[in-house]
Amino acid sequence: MNNLTHLIDKLNSEHILSKAEFTELIGNHSPEDAKYAAKLARSICDHWYGKKIYLRGLIEFTNFCKNDCLYCGIRRSNQKGDRYRLTKDEILECSDMGYDLGFRTFVLQGGEDLHYTDEIMCDIISSIKSRHPDTAVTLSIGEKTYDQYKKYFDAGADRYLLRHETANETHYSKLHPKEMSLTNRKQCLFDLKEIGYQVGTGFMVGSPYQTPEYLAEDFIFIHNLQPAMVGIGPFVVHHDTPFKDKKNGTADLTTFLVSLLRIMLPYALIPATTSLGTIDPQGREKGILAGANVLMPNLSPTSVRKKYMLYDNKICTGDEAAECRLCLKNRIEAIGYETVIDRGDVAVTPLD
Ligand code: SAH
Repeated sequence: MNNLTHLIDKLNSEHILSKAEFTELIGNHSPEDAKYAAKLARSICDHWYGKKIYLRGLIEFTNFCKNDCLYCGIRRSNQKGDRYRLTKDEILECSDMGYDLGFRTFVLQGGEDLHYTDEIMCDIISSIKSRHPDTAVTLSIGEKTYDQYKKYFDAGADRYLLRHETANETHYSKLHPKEMSLTNRKQCLFDLKEIGYQVGTGFMVGSPYQTPEYLAEDFIFIHNLQPAMVGIGPFVVHHDTPFKDKKNGTADLTTFLVSLLRIMLPYALIPATTSLGTIDPQGREKGILAGANVLMPNLSPTSVRKKYMLYDNKICTGDEAAECRLCLKNRIEAIGYETVIDRGDVAVTPLD
């Protein structure tokens, strides 16, 4: 019988494990170990954040991308994708509507689209902040230079999401084209932190060629970065990518890793992601119950929703933002939590 609860306890007291210990725990845990980790993770999350679940309104403003990540449906080589860009006015309309629905964080996410110059991005950021000064603006627009990140920060951006995707060089090179580098991506994350952003990183669970050892390296990298936010979700196949015949990640492994992240970084903002909700109808609830405390519903206009297809069968692509808001509120209340109107900044002290 496998019982690895001693490693879960050690992670709880020391907030780090050796690479060998992480590998053992991730590769050989039992369903009972996962239950034990979820219970502990949830109690830690309740201690820091109570029953509050924070909402981020996701505005997917462009699906043009200069990159060619092998797993991603909006990679530049995908000729079948129907490309779109939102104008500044359309983005502002999304944020106005989101504000009325109670969102106090807007996440601007997109492919790496050179149409949006720094001037255009800064104008969009400062316009949202001047219309809604009590909100946070989060960017998720990929790898830029230090100076670019600084400009966006000075224009009012508060947070930045940039998943490292995998902390292992060999694995990174199997998921990305030659011209992309893990060293650069990691440097971006340290630059963002130095500038003063609340930084989020993360990875896909069950991405092709991933091993427990690589995941152990992800945990050690995240521990060294000490990000405010960590987003993980299962890899989900997109049928027009080179990974079309690969397997999806699983909800079980994703939720277990959510629990380990919560135990390692007690204060972190951790979303129950859309991809988790895509591979399991109860995925987002399971994510919350395993220690997540953030949800990122879509605010993009319904006319473009189906076009931001990073992977197949993405959920909620037909719903109006107000419907998503209500649906999530009900789902979260059904499991004993509440969605709140709050910027939801990273906690610096526990509740008690
Ligand atoms: N261009 C931005 C935003 C990328 S999309 C950037 O580079 O950061 C946001 C995240 O979606 C990615 O970081 C990746 O981890 C995830 N993603 C992409 N394709 C996916 C797939 N097929 N399955 C699951 N997640 C995927």
